Amino acid sequence: MTSLDLRSFNFLAALQCAVMGAVLLGIRHNFPSEIKGLRYWGVAPLLALGTTAFYALLGHAPALLVGLGGNGLLMACTVTLLAGTCEFLGRPWRWWPWVVLVLGCLAGLFVFFVIWPDYRPRMLIFGLGMALICGVHTQVLARHGRGFAARLMLVAMAWQTLVLLTRALTTYWIDTPETQRFDAGSVIHMVFVATFSFTILMVLVSAQLMASERVRQEFEHLASHDELTGALNRRAILRLADQAHARWQLEGQAYALLLLDLDHFKRINDNHGHQAGDRTLVKVAATLQQGLRPLDRVGRYGGEEFIALLPISDLASAQRMAERLQARVERLPADADTPACTVSIGVALVQADDASCDAVVGRADRALYQAKAAGRNQVSLG
Ligand code: GH3
Ligand code: MG
Ligand code: MG
Repeated sequence: MTSLDLRSFNFLAALQCAVMGAVLLGIRHNFPSEIKGLRYWGVAPLLALGTTAFYALLGHAPALLVGLGGNGLLMACTVTLLAGTCEFLGRPWRWWPWVVLVLGCLAGLFVFFVIWPDYRPRMLIFGLGMALICGVHTQVLARHGRGFAARLMLVAMAWQTLVLLTRALTTYWIDTPETQRFDAGSVIHMVFVATFSFTILMVLVSAQLMASERVRQEFEHLASHDELTGALNRRAILRLADQAHARWQLEGQAYALLLLDLDHFKRINDNHGHQAGDRTLVKVAATLQQGLRPLDRVGRYGGEEFIALLPISDLASAQRMAERLQARVERLPADADTPACTVSIGVALVQADDASCDAVVGRADRALYQAKAAGRNQVSLG
């Protein structure tokens, strides 16, 4: 029977991770540049491969070199993974506290290699240092990670933290200098390194899933939002109106539509320039969004027209909401960048014989026409 050679196993596991890291580095340019962190996630497994190379030197090179080189690279790899996650999640990242931690741990290892040779405090220092890095990584993911992939990475990191703590504490308090269960080269040590390789593998798989998930979210956002104002685009708001109509037909939950059109917008463009017109649109969209309730939605219907969808059961409440929005736009202070402007609003509530939301849009449109005809900067009911 062939026995499992843990050293080769670890080398192969680290090699696999390194290949995945190299692939991540290679394909990172295929992802939008707003997705950060892929570089660090890709570099980390290459550092882990360096660690295995150091451990392979055991017995052939001085223990001090293997211990400091291997452990130093393993800590650098763990910190680099954390840097990747922080960058990806948009958390602030600074290298220096972690460089200080790694150098401090290496100084501690040096002391217990050379001055008072004792492997137990070495295990304790290294284990606690690593557990701190993995623990912070777990906490960052718990606080800021969203979705399945981030949870997968969190489980891997939490598990690694637990393994590190158990190893450090049991070595220090249970082991004796005669039973060096965890010393480099021992079977348990090799199993520990294999566990670490598995953690890196899980982190890399999660990282790729997180990056693809982010791309999907960005595409979805691009497909459903207006680029200039950030409001929903016409297709997205009309889809929501269709859904609201289906709910009305199935459950009797009424809704109202407000059609809003900026008054004399051509004049704004003509007198202040097209860019000032754009800024006005952005400002008005933000004002509408702020003036609505959490469940109300607003979208850009066309050029300088917006549409708001309100889950509301009576026309009078919809009218009050429209008047509030009209007043908010009117009160917007003019400044050097954006001129003052007003808005006319047509309001319509869904009715029993409306076959689709198009009928409600039609009534709101006719009401808007009346508001324009009656002098603008006002609300009309349809
Ligand atoms: P009314 O009060 O009757 O609505 O007058 P109006 O000038 O607003 O009339 P109209 O709706 O015909 O004009 C809309 C103008 O909005 C015409 C178009 O040049 C301008 N517009 C449409 N989209 C944009 C945009 O994205 N940016 C800017 N700056 N202007 C736009
Ligand atoms: Mg118009
Ligand atoms: Mg207009």
